[in-house]
Amino acid sequence: MRIVPQRQIASSLYRLSKVKMSTFPQATAERAAELVSAYNSILKQVEDTSKQYGKTNVRLVAVSKFKPSSDIMALYNAGVRHFGENYVQELIAKSKELPKDIKWHFIGGLQSGKAKDLAKGVESLYAVETIDALKKCKQLDNTRAKLEGAPITVYLQVNTSEEEQKSGYSLSNREELFQTVEFLLSEDCKKLKLGGLMTIGSFTESTSEGEENQDFTKLVNLKRDLDEKYKLDLEISMGMSNDFAQAIKQGSSSVRVGTSIFGARPPRA
Ligand SMILES: *Cc1c(COP(=O)(O)O)cnc(C)c1O
Repeated sequence: MRIVPQRQIASSLYRLSKVKMSTFPQATAERAAELVSAYNSILKQVEDTSKQYGKTNVRLVAVSKFKPSSDIMALYNAGVRHFGENYVQELIAKSKELPKDIKWHFIGGLQSGKAKDLAKGVESLYAVETIDALKKCKQLDNTRAKLEGAPITVYLQVNTSEEEQKSGYSLSNREELFQTVEFLLSEDCKKLKLGGLMTIGSFTESTSEGEENQDFTKLVNLKRDLDEKYKLDLEISMGMSNDFAQAIKQGSSSVRVGTSIFGARPPRA
């Protein structure tokens, strides 16, 4: 069945669709209305903050981990296409039962060996935002090249807060980060495009009263260094439910919002 995307209305807000697409899992009308309203409210905040700080084209990625496919369809029906997921198996399952023009962002910890599953299992994978090692980058590229799949945009995750439980390239030794950038820019790399940098940042920084989130500042400084060294204009993925406005203020080009759109998630079993 051909999917007719809902036209965007002039205000750029998204609207509930009247089209019923019965082959996909559907939310109740009540749940759909609730989700679209929450999404629009966040989108408006993203747009207002962007305008306030003179930024353009800040992307809002709806983080749908642990939420049912019917929730994703409710936003999809209203025109939303960028969704973020954290778990490889969950993403593969959802991508198989949902429309193929969804732009999936993988934003979870990428274990060695899982890059292959991801490249293979998710045809419409748009971005992997959590590359933290050259080896995983090569795995992803090799698998995608063998399958002759569509290109994937990658973001290099940086552990700006240097917390042990967080993944990401270290800022204190930048050698592997440089090697990864060089691989991505080389002819050896067939299916990956370097999109930018990503960070999560510490909880303390996201809730502190200071003028700036120091973890965000570190990522922006790194972007400046890499842009200069390699003649790039890297995007920046930072900002979640409780700190996306601050992230935009500091230069984020893509924010990842879950809870404020979908509601609280059940604790991990
Ligand atoms: C879960 C998650 C988000 C969304 O977080 P919320 O606080 O629910 O908005 C964003 N980024 C990453 C990497 C996540 O794991």
